Amino acid sequence: MRIWIDKLRRDRTLAPDAYRQLLATEDADAVDYLHRQAREVALSQFGHDIYIRGLIEVGNRCRNNCLYCGIRAANPSVARYELTKEEILDCCRHGHELGFRTFVLQGGERRGRYRMWEDVVSTIRATWPDCAITLSLGEMTREEYEGLRLAGADRYLLRHETYNADHYRMLHPEQMSRENRLQCLQWLKETGYQTGTGIMVGSPGQTIDCLVEDILFIGRFRPQMIGIGPFIPQHDTPLGQCKAGSADLTLRLLSIFRLMFPSALIPATTALATLLPDGKARGILAGANVVMPNLSPAACRSSYALYDNKAAAGTEAAEGLDLLKQELDKIGYRISMVRGDYRPTD
Ligand code: SAM
Repeated sequence: MRIWIDKLRRDRTLAPDAYRQLLATEDADAVDYLHRQAREVALSQFGHDIYIRGLIEVGNRCRNNCLYCGIRAANPSVARYELTKEEILDCCRHGHELGFRTFVLQGGERRGRYRMWEDVVSTIRATWPDCAITLSLGEMTREEYEGLRLAGADRYLLRHETYNADHYRMLHPEQMSRENRLQCLQWLKETGYQTGTGIMVGSPGQTIDCLVEDILFIGRFRPQMIGIGPFIPQHDTPLGQCKAGSADLTLRLLSIFRLMFPSALIPATTALATLLPDGKARGILAGANVVMPNLSPAACRSSYALYDNKAAAGTEAAEGLDLLKQELDKIGYRISMVRGDYRPTD
């Protein structure tokens, strides 16, 4: 197994069967070696600096019905909210004072909101020219992505969730299309965003072969950001009785992507920290270099309930920056307050 890991570090790619073996192996020493190699590569790129992003959950109204997601349109049990422009700006102001230099605006997908987002993005751009703006608002038209880029957005996160067509169909209703999601990713790249994609690990119906397809897709797409988090059931959704994805597999994938893409921006996700009390540290020690504390108004956090028991306090909260610093310090890392843009180093 070590031969494959060394080869991945050197060549940044492997044959599909080698990925399959890395994902399936029960050899704990090999997995440890994989994480160590990924950690070394992350250290060579970023030193002990961890970039922080202020996550603003702008609203949980959504027109989609992803079968796994707690804010799906058909969930009547979630209290819906939508932040106003002023509330979003207040979050940015608070975040800027705390030292954040990237704001991530994430929310449910809605039609007819383009003008509002254009206004919000251009106001943030004008008010805090030193900050990066990341959007995660779902699928739009090419013109809309282009317009928001011109308004000042720098980055966009849009996980493809799963590359396998049959698996995609198991997780999404008929009205949603994998082809459109992949098309959106292409548009995001073409319109000049630092583009992020990624997957949920362990979503119902996912096999090791599906994950290999995801690795191969990400290898071809070459995103600047890669979001890898475990699936966690939300009790009001059709997949609410399924079991959560594996933290171990999530960490393996994280390390594989670090070896494939040394300079990519890879977060230790909230979902991982929800499954493992030390998920943030484990993610960083497996090669992650970004964390995204929550800057949303405290009153809304429990309503952005993508999955059960979503971590939102302590080091997950922007107010918990001191705690986060202590947690990182314990493993020899520190918060970096810079914008933390993608910088290709090769
Ligand atoms: N609407 C935007 C979009 O479609 O990209 C952003 C919001 S969406 C809720 C953000 C991410 O949450 C999704 O890409 C998905 O991977 C993740 N997510 C949703 N439900 C989840 C669950 N049950 N477990 C883990 N992650 C989940």
